[in-house]
Amino acid sequence: MNHIPTVCPLCNGKIKPGTTTFSLDLQSGVIVVRKVPAHICQQCGEEWLDDEQAANLEKIVARARQQNVQLEMVSMG
Ligand SMILES: [Zn+2]
Repeated sequence: MNHIPTVCPLCNGKIKPGTTTFSLDLQSGVIVVRKVPAHICQQCGEEWLDDEQAANLEKIVARARQQNVQLEMVSMG
């Protein structure tokens, strides 16, 4: 299980909910997932995903891999 800190362990900045863009090179192709809900450090930009969003991302990536997409852009928002 992911532990989402309330204060950034890297810089002690505040962590607030927001959205981020996740991209992954699958070698056969590239997948970009926009508007992924995440917890983001306001100071250094480090990001944390909670378990539910991490699982959602994994599903999207697994499907893209299976379908051998060359370029896929998905929005979770
Ligand atoms: Zn930070």
